[in-house]
Amino acid sequence: MIVIMKKNATKEQVKQVIERIKKEGLDVNVDQGTEHIVIGLKGDTRGMQDVAFNSLEGVENTVKISKTYKLTSREFHPGNTVVDVDGVKIGDGSFVTMAGPCSIEGLDQIRECARMAKAGGAKILRGGAFKPRTSPYAFQGLEEEGLKYIRQAADEFGMKVITEVMDEGHIDMVAEYSDILQIGARNMQNFKLLSAVGKTGKPIGLKRGISGTIDEWLNAAEYIAVQDKSPVIFIERGIRTYETATRNTFDLSAVPLIKKLSHFPVIVDPSHGTGIWDLVPPMARAGVASGADGMIVEIHPDPANAWSDGPQSLNEKTYMRMMAEVDILVNAMQEIKALDK
Ligand code: PEP
Ligand code: MN
Repeated sequence: MIVIMKKNATKEQVKQVIERIKKEGLDVNVDQGTEHIVIGLKGDTRGMQDVAFNSLEGVENTVKISKTYKLTSREFHPGNTVVDVDGVKIGDGSFVTMAGPCSIEGLDQIRECARMAKAGGAKILRGGAFKPRTSPYAFQGLEEEGLKYIRQAADEFGMKVITEVMDEGHIDMVAEYSDILQIGARNMQNFKLLSAVGKTGKPIGLKRGISGTIDEWLNAAEYIAVQDKSPVIFIERGIRTYETATRNTFDLSAVPLIKKLSHFPVIVDPSHGTGIWDLVPPMARAGVASGADGMIVEIHPDPANAWSDGPQSLNEKTYMRMMAEVDILVNAMQEIKALDK
């Protein structure tokens, strides 16, 4: 349930409503909207009578949220949530790039990737140390050794880190080295893992499941949000369809749809979304135009010899060119957003 205050409601009236809600044993989320203050009720409000609030001074209306993903929903929190990754803001209207290899292969490789990523304008370094591979015989990642390398490389170049955590037992270890915890597509509905990472307080990069619907994805975010500690960053990485010409079908309509339904930021992953390196720059451009808050992209100094996902990785030249193109579109998007003002 949310309580919408009148436009001219006083601070005292807002305080009275909050006190009344707390008396019911519930917590609140206060959203300072542009026109109305919206007070969200946190907890089980199923038995609650909205008339209890409608009679208080300064209250315009109360609305029951019918969505199962209440805390994640835009109704509960009308303003955008800006995720602060140790000083790098995601969801504030800027476009943040995360770049790096699919897998961390060694210190020299991840340092070279960090140098490239930074030179193109990326602020966050990606790279997997725990890799979800289809074949048990494929390279599974350098694990803690890899985590140490990516942290060292990111620190050297003044970058933040995003890396995947696959297992509840590794959360503390990954959180020690990483600024964002990535939940991979294969784990979008690993509910125990979602609840556990939600307790860390670190931002969670939540990939869309391989055949995850929008509703399932939003509900997955709710498992994190209900822990009331970690913000979510949605990552659209394509879904499996009957099409086999691309690795996945990159669903860009998810970006404006998630932004309509949720207050959390959304970024795009044109690398896994297409699986083909020369489709990555056009889809990155389209990602900017769709209104995404950023992107995550795979790069490698020598894609032909990458230990994983070489075919979808950009080399330095193609990455730098893509970033120049993305910059042009980011500026154009600023002009488009200014039309709203
Ligand atoms: C990755 O980011 O390298 C990865 C494994 O992605 P996804 O979970 O989207 O397949
Ligand atoms: Mn990959």
